[in-house]
Amino acid sequence: MSACVLRVRAVAKSFGEEGTDDHILAVDSVSFQIRPAETVGLIGESGSGKSTVGKLALGLLAPDAGTVEFLGRDLAGLSREQFRSTRAEASVVFQEPEESLNPRMKVFRIVEEPLVIHEPHLSTSERHARVEAAFADVNIGSELWQRRPRSLSGGQQQRIGIARAIVTRPQLIVLDEPTSSLDLSVQAQIINLLLRLQREHGFSYLFISHDLRVVSYVSHRILVMYSGRIVESGPRKDVVNRPLHPYTLVLLSSALSPDPEQPPVPILEREDTSSGHVDSEEGCTFLRRCPLLSDSRCATETPDLEEKTPGHAAATFCEVATADWDSIA
Ligand code: ADP
Ligand code: MG
Repeated sequence: MSACVLRVRAVAKSFGEEGTDDHILAVDSVSFQIRPAETVGLIGESGSGKSTVGKLALGLLAPDAGTVEFLGRDLAGLSREQFRSTRAEASVVFQEPEESLNPRMKVFRIVEEPLVIHEPHLSTSERHARVEAAFADVNIGSELWQRRPRSLSGGQQQRIGIARAIVTRPQLIVLDEPTSSLDLSVQAQIINLLLRLQREHGFSYLFISHDLRVVSYVSHRILVMYSGRIVESGPRKDVVNRPLHPYTLVLLSSALSPDPEQPPVPILEREDTSSGHVDSEEGCTFLRRCPLLSDSRCATETPDLEEKTPGHAAATFCEVATADWDSIA
């Protein structure tokens, strides 16, 4: 038994034809691990590469470089049959339940389907018992089992998405913005449901979100992604209370305002003059927006992700000051 459920090493993924304007390095040198029953939060703004990392982790996309090891097996080295059985140990919940649930299928069948595919040896009654247990886990009563997803609320749909993800009893679940399309009160219910399911079943989660409050609530460890790279990683408390990267500081100063009526202490971002990704340019990827720019190397060298204190790493030449931590406390 491997100590890590998922081990991603230096993966890169680009889209579009090289040398054209369409070419984009969506994920660059990303490495991280997820341990059993651990939630790793992946935070970053839209377009930073989070969903691509999720797809690479699940083997839905093949990396251009680097390796993805799931349950100790390199996904690239598996035969089709091995890949299928390995993939059965992972599942995914997407942001838009309405789009990810087949509208023509009844709810019971939607949740049953992964078992039909991945555990064909089960008898019908065994399979139905597993589906019913998954519905019980997410509090979906039998009166809804023969309905179609469109006739249900967003929260009910997402519970069904979660039932579908857990019915195979996977070791890893990639949750890609699982609450971003829901009302706040429903968001809280779904998050608490996910936390309870993790306690009861020991799932590992890769929890992807652009919302730092959500990520800091659910995660044991946090990865901060910016422009295709992980710019900071560490235990939740360290990243949230003692951020080391100026981008994390900017995220925190805008997300964690104690008084919603009061604008947060502005740790000013400089105007972004770039359009999206910085591809093969000199200097730090955060250069154009960095409020600190406190090192002469910022404009000429790209900082590597380095451990600054045990378990807490950042890719920056800048020193975030204690006064900055106080301003977000
Ligand atoms: P996020 O989930 O953080 O919003 P994504 O991983 O979806 O970011 O996308 C990262 C970048 O890669 C974006 O610029 C996006 O437009 C691009 N991208 C993602 N998937 C594709 C694809 N299949 N084809 C072309 N570009 C893509
Ligand atoms: Mg996304």
